[in-house]
Amino acid sequence: MAFVVRKNIHGNNYYYLNENKRIDGKVKTKTLAYLGKTRKEAERKAREIIKSLKKDKKSMDEKIEEKEILKEKNKETIKEYTDISIEEMAIFCKRKGFVYNSGEIYGGMAGFWDFGHLGVELSNNIKKEWWKSHVHSREDMVGIDGSIITNPKVWEASGHVFSFVDVAVVCKKCGNKTKVDKFEAGRIEKVKCEKCGGEFETKGEFNPMFTTQVGPIKEDSIKAYLRPETAQLIFTNFRYVYDNARLKLPCGIAQIGKAFRNEIAPRDFLFRAREFEQMEIEYFIKPEQKCPYGIGNTEILVYSAEMQEAGKKAAKMKFSDAYGKGIIKTDWHAYWLEQEFLWFIGLGANPEKFRIRQHIKDEKSHYALDTWDLEYRFPFGWKELEGIANRTDFDLKQHEKFSGKDLKIFDEDTKEKFLPHVVCEPSLGIGRAFLVFMFDSYFYDKKRENVVLKIHPKLSPIKVAILPIVKKKEFKKIAKEILNELKNEFNVIYDESGSIGRRYSRQDEAGTPYCITIDADSLKKKDITIRDRDTSEQFRIKIKNIKETVRKIIEGGNLSNLGKRINTRKKIS
Ligand code: ATP
Repeated sequence: MAFVVRKNIHGNNYYYLNENKRIDGKVKTKTLAYLGKTRKEAERKAREIIKSLKKDKKSMDEKIEEKEILKEKNKETIKEYTDISIEEMAIFCKRKGFVYNSGEIYGGMAGFWDFGHLGVELSNNIKKEWWKSHVHSREDMVGIDGSIITNPKVWEASGHVFSFVDVAVVCKKCGNKTKVDKFEAGRIEKVKCEKCGGEFETKGEFNPMFTTQVGPIKEDSIKAYLRPETAQLIFTNFRYVYDNARLKLPCGIAQIGKAFRNEIAPRDFLFRAREFEQMEIEYFIKPEQKCPYGIGNTEILVYSAEMQEAGKKAAKMKFSDAYGKGIIKTDWHAYWLEQEFLWFIGLGANPEKFRIRQHIKDEKSHYALDTWDLEYRFPFGWKELEGIANRTDFDLKQHEKFSGKDLKIFDEDTKEKFLPHVVCEPSLGIGRAFLVFMFDSYFYDKKRENVVLKIHPKLSPIKVAILPIVKKKEFKKIAKEILNELKNEFNVIYDESGSIGRRYSRQDEAGTPYCITIDADSLKKKDITIRDRDTSEQFRIKIKNIKETVRKIIEGGNLSNLGKRINTRKKIS
């Protein structure tokens, strides 16, 4: 509370505005302003100052309140989702046309999957978004598309023929067949069956590469491999791509494509398949080159090798701190881990279900100096979603040795030739990303009594469904005109069968973010209703503005700023 005081100094009066405040249990007086030499002038000035202080306080309070409201709102925007098991997800995916067991009419085949009419769209959208953010929007990245079968020497040089080995194990108690790596096999008595906790018995080593014969006449053919990863084609093409694309270090080469592994126990739906797709980057630097990009303050659960070895729990921290404290050793690793995490979050994945885990010493692959995995909490536990290894110059060195070709590049500064180092290799399986986006979108809405797949509009298989309210000729005509206008740019569908509620729920389950309905008003007023999948809110939009509106809302625009909200409750009654 502020008050006016008079001070007499050498016989003259001076007025001040003071305020008492309790600080650490003691009342302290603070002078806020000098008010002049007369009481009248002082009281007038005091009134003005107190009024402006009150105004400031009010606006400060309002700001705090706004912040609180925003916080609450953000809480609300963290998507609701329903926990389901991987088996339930596989059933849902089959029922809606996302994924089928390959060759199912003949009994299927373990580890092979076919994407249906919705699944192929989601998978393509994942690849499109990944390519856009990792290749097109970066000046330091280009892409390639290597072949699936290549000269088998490639796999000798890479170490896959001799070192890419898993050990088959069987649980003595429940008979569960699975694989462990060589490190785990060396201490098999400590590894317990994830199904029943029983002990394992080792059944020998196996190389998961599929072999084939190139050349139809057996005597003239050679044994070749279906690639177990896309990465090697980037290394074998490195010099050509580097020169032709006029790249400068630091830079990356990206690739999306199929990989094959003859897994001993394919399981957990798309998580462990025998044929799958990868999105990979080899990021090359001059040895010791610093990362020119910032490391941000995004928070994530961090589980370093040291924490694991000391039996500690993962700890939440900022990427910048994890690097600053030396937990993540290189700026490049911190940078790429954060980028990969942000890519998922930007497309609607739930940040609470992610962590980064460093490989412990004996777990690392034969080529890796250091590896961190971006892990996701699947219904069957924390599992690797994406591996990010530091492969050093291992691969280029090996290919130089085996091919006898010079793969070095010229350093303009030192005027010497050298082999670039792959400081990070982000390697992500599309099937695992597909599952993340599905699990974090799947929501059973009790009120609507159907699943609402709240998938990010950029990933949604169908962007807009166009639904004439009734099958009248004039309604259908408008619907078809809208369909024709949108279909060149977006994947849109037309549906006139069944009640409007039935059609909405069909689209909710397919993850279609927007439904457009054409009704009697559309004929008179030349506008339509657009319904938001996540909120069921409906807005009226002029037909001439539809394309622009759809463009904006898919990019994250808000329908309430683009159309006129309509009261659906009133409409129903
Ligand atoms: P895991 O330990 O789970 O077998 P990995 O360490 O062998 O995986 P990488 O060689 O690092 O896997 O492959 C890179 C990425 O490719 C993985 O993070 C994963 O997303 C994907 N991937 C690997 N194997 C499979 C598989 N059998 N099915 C589906 N995706 C896979």
